[in-house]
Amino acid sequence: MPRWTVRPLPVRTTELPNHIKICPSCHGPTWAATKTSRSVTTLDGVVRLRLQIRSCRNPECRRYKVCFRPEQEGRFALPQHEFGLDVIALVGMLRHAEHRSVPEIHAELVRRGVVICVRSVGNLLDRYDELLTLSCSDADRLKRITAKAGQVILAIDGLQPDVGHEVLWVIRDVLSGEVLLARSLLSSCQADLVKLLCEVKAGLDVPIAGVVSDGQSSIRKAVKKALDDVPNQLCHFHYLREAATPRSN
Ligand SMILES: [Zn+2]
Repeated sequence: MPRWTVRPLPVRTTELPNHIKICPSCHGPTWAATKTSRSVTTLDGVVRLRLQIRSCRNPECRRYKVCFRPEQEGRFALPQHEFGLDVIALVGMLRHAEHRSVPEIHAELVRRGVVICVRSVGNLLDRYDELLTLSCSDADRLKRITAKAGQVILAIDGLQPDVGHEVLWVIRDVLSGEVLLARSLLSSCQADLVKLLCEVKAGLDVPIAGVVSDGQSSIRKAVKKALDDVPNQLCHFHYLREAATPRSN
């Protein structure tokens, strides 16, 4: 498909380190394999992500030479997607909460500085609707996602395009890069998150090796309640971002 709009240059570069230092399959060390980059169009402009790829070099391992991508990458965008998850969340919110048409959503995105054509808005709306139809009762889908690793590391992110509106909660598997469940919720209270995590846990027939999330108290408490025996690691990206945020007092 030809591109109808000229993509702006990245406004910044973000380094995404890779913290998967131990192979989840053989528990040996992983090695820094290569660095790659991709550009993602977000609500804050085009961001160039520099990604550290690691791999297992144990020839006996089932994940020998399989690439591990940084766990934070999925927070920005779906695999092979040009537009960020934050843009998809906004498109979905404008359509379903504010009942705006595709041309109206396009106009709003342009107003916010996002370079996009009308046809791409329609595609993003399709992606949003597909995300919300993902179900953890689809055993075949989950088996396909988890077959290679035999386990999952969950990452939980809440995307709220505008304060006071719905939050798009996305639970994904870091090892496969796939989204397991996504739900749009008006509130983001602990009980709602516990319900989502329990839904994921009930659908999986492989162990949950860990959870990566930000430091939000409702998420941490929900993880503890739903997955008490699973280690919850504060995402390094969130940790660094929070450490860099000036405190108001
Ligand atoms: Zn290995």
